[in-house]
Amino acid sequence: MSRFLFPVLFILSWLLVLGATDVPAQEQKSRYVTLVYNDMKVLQEFNSNLQLNRTLESAIHQKNIITAADEVLAKVDIIVEKVQVVLDMFPNNYHIQLVLLPDASEVARTYKQKYGKNVNHIAYYSLSEKTIYISAADTCLRVLAHEIGHSVVDYYFKQVRPPYNIHELMAQFAEQHVTD
Ligand SMILES: [Zn+2]
Repeated sequence: MSRFLFPVLFILSWLLVLGATDVPAQEQKSRYVTLVYNDMKVLQEFNSNLQLNRTLESAIHQKNIITAADEVLAKVDIIVEKVQVVLDMFPNNYHIQLVLLPDASEVARTYKQKYGKNVNHIAYYSLSEKTIYISAADTCLRVLAHEIGHSVVDYYFKQVRPPYNIHELMAQFAEQHVTD
């Protein structure tokens, strides 16, 4: 290493550390989900938009909920369990990431970054990342149940992935019956 290289590397590594603190992503885990968000307001909006029906609601009251993140994770775990029952698919080692984004334009930006295409999704499930990206502003039970449907189908069919239309049909089925 040259005399000059060391200070340069030192400064560069500090810039990386400083850059990383720019995006204070919060992460919390439950049984089925790792929740990722950057902003408490986004978490709160997601939580208030994610209204459960009475049956699902009564199931989360038995859980130990202190923070908004606890409440969100309890709700999401209940929805995952319900979707698995609806689809009659109980895959082993099911665990996904759930990334909360403020609005549909952020979902579109994330999608474009990854796939280079313009879309107007309010949520999508990435098969390769095992991750749901969702707009907190547009969240509701059915939208989340649909994407969780995609993820459960993805985990269930390990060897041969069902054709796109069948995948979509099963996600729609989960969406329709999550409130049964
Ligand atoms: Zn779909």
